[in-house]
Amino acid sequence: MKPRVAFFDFASCEGCQLQVVNLEEAVIDLVGIVDVVSFREAMKEHSNDYDIAFIEGSIARPMDEKRLKEIRGQARILVAFGACACIGGINALRNQFPMNSVKKRVYGDADIENNPYFEAFPTKAVDEVVKVDYYIRGCPVDRDELAKVITSLVLGKKPEISNYPLCVECKKKENVCVFEEGEFCLGPVTRAGCGAICPTNKSGCEGCRGLLDDPNTNAELEVLRKYGLTLENALSRFKMFCYKRGVSK
Ligand code: SF4
Ligand code: SF4
Ligand code: SF4
Repeated sequence: MKPRVAFFDFASCEGCQLQVVNLEEAVIDLVGIVDVVSFREAMKEHSNDYDIAFIEGSIARPMDEKRLKEIRGQARILVAFGACACIGGINALRNQFPMNSVKKRVYGDADIENNPYFEAFPTKAVDEVVKVDYYIRGCPVDRDELAKVITSLVLGKKPEISNYPLCVECKKKENVCVFEEGEFCLGPVTRAGCGAICPTNKSGCEGCRGLLDDPNTNAELEVLRKYGLTLENALSRFKMFCYKRGVSK
C-alpha cells in the first residue's frame, strides 16, 4: 500500500507548495509511489487519514498551534517544509518588534479584539510546537531535494540533508566570491544544498537554508577572517531568516 501524503499550509506565501506543483516530470514518478490525500493548492479532496504530513509555513496564532498538534497526532512522519516552517522564515521578521505595534501597523484601527483569527503571538518554527522528523530547507524549497526526500521516506531511508557550508558548493562552481565585489554573504555559516544559487547570480547568501549545526569550523572562520570578519559579525547579519538560527537535524 502506498504511503498517504498530506500537505498543510500555515503562515506562508505558499511558494513551497508551488514547488511541488512545479515538479513536472518528477511528479509523475512521485504519484507512482505515494497517494496524495490532501493538498489544498492542487486538489479539492481532503482526507484526515495520512501517514506523512508536510508542513509549510510558520506558526503565528494559538489556533494554528492547536491545528498543528492535531496533524502531529495523526502523522507517522512530519516534515517541516521550507524556511518558514524550519526556522520561522520571513514571517519571523515581526518578532523584532512588539506584537502590539505589528498589529497596529497591519490592521490599523480595525476592531480585532476577541477574534481568534487575529490572536497572534510571536512567530514560531514548527519544531517549537511539535516534534519534527525531517526538514526540507530553503525559501522556497529546492525541487530536486524535495523529490529526493519524498523518495527516501517512501523507501524507509533517512533522507540525506547536507550539513556543510554553502561556500563548498560555491567554490565548486568556481564563482568569484561576492566579498571580492564588496558584498556580504552568509555562505560561510549557511547550510549548503541550493547549489549556491544566490552567489552564482552575484548576490550574497541571506541564509534561507538556516545555519549549519556547528558553524564554528576552521573552513568557515578562514573565509570570514580573510575579509576581516568574525563569526559574531556573520551571525549578527543573519536577519532575514533569523528567528530560529539552527535546527538539529
Ligand atoms: S519558505 Fe519562502 S517560499 Fe516557502 S512558504 Fe515561506 S516565504 Fe514562501
Ligand atoms: S562567502 Fe559567499 S560568495 Fe564567497 S565563497 Fe562563500 S558562498 Fe561563495
Ligand atoms: S544562496 Fe543562500 S539565500 Fe540563496 S537560496 Fe541558497 S541558502 Fe538561500
